[in-house]
Amino acid sequence: MIDLRSDTVTKPSKPMLEAMMHANVGDDVFSEDPTVKALEDYCAALFGMEAGLFCPSGTMSNQIAVKAQTQPLDEIICDQLCHIYNYETAGYAFHSGVSVRLTQGKQGVMRVDQIAECILPDHDWFANTRMVCIENTVNKGGGAIYTLEQMQAISAFCKEKNLILHLDGARVFNALNVLNIKPQALAGLFDSISICISKGLGAPSGSVLLGNKEMIKRSRKIRKVMGGGMRQSGYLAAACLYALNNNVERLSDDHRRAKQIAAVLQTKNWVKSVLPVETNIVIFEVDNAEETAKALADKGIRTSPFSSILVRMVTHLDFTEDMLKETIQVIHSL
Ligand SMILES: *Cc1c(COP(=O)(O)O)cnc(C)c1O
Repeated sequence: MIDLRSDTVTKPSKPMLEAMMHANVGDDVFSEDPTVKALEDYCAALFGMEAGLFCPSGTMSNQIAVKAQTQPLDEIICDQLCHIYNYETAGYAFHSGVSVRLTQGKQGVMRVDQIAECILPDHDWFANTRMVCIENTVNKGGGAIYTLEQMQAISAFCKEKNLILHLDGARVFNALNVLNIKPQALAGLFDSISICISKGLGAPSGSVLLGNKEMIKRSRKIRKVMGGGMRQSGYLAAACLYALNNNVERLSDDHRRAKQIAAVLQTKNWVKSVLPVETNIVIFEVDNAEETAKALADKGIRTSPFSSILVRMVTHLDFTEDMLKETIQVIHSL
């Protein structure tokens, strides 16, 4: 089976497992795991942020960011396609007691004027507009990218309006790869950043939340109350460090392969349209997503039906050049 359902399906490679086996660990609830600390410090330095917090998932990391930076009765602004709104079980309401106001950006990429329209006046009967969450790349938008200039413009606007700005950077390394900029270029733009190491980078689990020292101190407590205080989590952090040191540059292979798949899909009369492919996600429209996914699965290619008419394919570390050839053959054969 060739599994293109998600870039989360990768399994740790032998050298990654080696790195995990040799990790120097301690009890991280006592702040005594040197490998977790090394990962948190490494990520903070990489993005020019003050501090980091290792979290078991990107969902928890996003949810902590919302909880740590809002009060009940606050409202966050995000795009209708974003993960925080769609795929985190309404956690913003459950954990933080906040509401959401949605923009309709281009493939999930919000413009400053769209964000501006969401800001509520200061009245008793309105929620308090507190925070803006952007996602780069936008999963549900087909892996669409915010450019550095777009992020800078949103950041400047949020500073002017006194709004907290969070980056859901589950796939920010994919964006940085295409933009050909270093993570350091984002320094100073965001109040908090969540990065996932378990997506394209191929670690088995783990996300890192970045922010200033005081925000991360509060976040540690929230992580604990959510049940995310882990003990010898250095074994996982070692996998994340390995991924950050070895699997970042190769993301361009995933991007090229996604584009190649999209180019073939575009030639098929059973494909109505393909969202522009910017990174490692291919979303295309068919008559019946379930049927198309089943036809592909019958020929050994697993995909995700993303709505009744949309199918998603995601390229990743364990999707090889040979698998690309096979996938293209299968698409031709349908
Ligand atoms: C995957 C993902 C997350 C977090 O997912 P987990 O499965 O909880 O690690 C957050 N945001 C985006 C955009 C994602 O794609």
